[in-house]
Amino acid sequence: MTNRKVAIVTGSNKGIGFAIVKALCEKFTGDVYLTARDKNRGLNAVKLLNEQGYHPKFHVLDITIPENVSALKDHIIKEYGGIDVLINNAAIAFKENATEPFEIQAKETLQVNYFALRDTCNILFPILNPHSRVVNISSSAGHLSNIPQKNLRDKLSSEDLTETELSNLMNSFVQAAQNNNYIELGWPSRAYSVSKVGVSALTRIQQREFSQDTNRPDIIVNSVHPGYVDTDMTSHKGVLTIEQGAEAPVYLALLPENVNKPKGDYVWYNKVIVD
Ligand code: NDP
Repeated sequence: MTNRKVAIVTGSNKGIGFAIVKALCEKFTGDVYLTARDKNRGLNAVKLLNEQGYHPKFHVLDITIPENVSALKDHIIKEYGGIDVLINNAAIAFKENATEPFEIQAKETLQVNYFALRDTCNILFPILNPHSRVVNISSSAGHLSNIPQKNLRDKLSSEDLTETELSNLMNSFVQAAQNNNYIELGWPSRAYSVSKVGVSALTRIQQREFSQDTNRPDIIVNSVHPGYVDTDMTSHKGVLTIEQGAEAPVYLALLPENVNKPKGDYVWYNKVIVD
């Protein structure tokens, strides 16, 4: 086992995650794991970075497969003992002209963007080292104002909200999408927004729990809107390069020890904390 530090980036074979790996290879003092659900896509991405002089490690990771996450955990325990940086970047978004029924879009989007991210955290959080940094990639769509109904907004922003209650709310949206009454019940028409509001709310809960746990000193979790970035997800309409999109996530990943802010916050690409 080495005493080197280690950073893990989910869904990093392309897009913003790929640029985060590249930036961490430059700035993070330790090993950086590029992970991908598809081994070939992942190894091709590593090769591309090797050609540019960067040397990330690689591990297969589909965040929707708990056995995959556990295999990564076992590997990290064996090689490093624990994790120093975890960037939850992997996500999906159906295109506006997608033909899948809304109930399918809602189920799949919530499954990857919220539930799989939550499960990944719950599997990997026990091996976070002191002072580790967790960055949950949210979106501008993760701002609470995207939820039309005040009652839902109040529940989602409650200081006492638990992970179970939040997950129940996310499930109630999936159920409402199935019953086709999600608009009446105060949800927005984009499943992606609900999933990312869930990520921002989960981040606050995760930080609250770390802050209350005296055995987990100085672990910081933030969520971040990386900006509108030129990637496959945005059909290359975004205005920022992937390197620019990586800036705020990398800033949050490298926050020095014992900072008070940002901490459990929702941060925008220009490094501004948004309420
Ligand atoms: P891309 O679609 O370019 O990349 C998404 C990455 O996530 C891909 O590597 C994809 O793998 C991976 N992924 C998807 N599902 C899974 C899974 N189940 N397990 C593991 N990996 C998976 O998107 P972006 O780079 O644009 O987005 C990165 C993050 O930034 C996302 O969280 C997104 O929501 C967020 N974001 C992006 C914005 C933008 O303007 N681009 C704006 C706001 C937020 P594969 O190649 O196999 O599909």
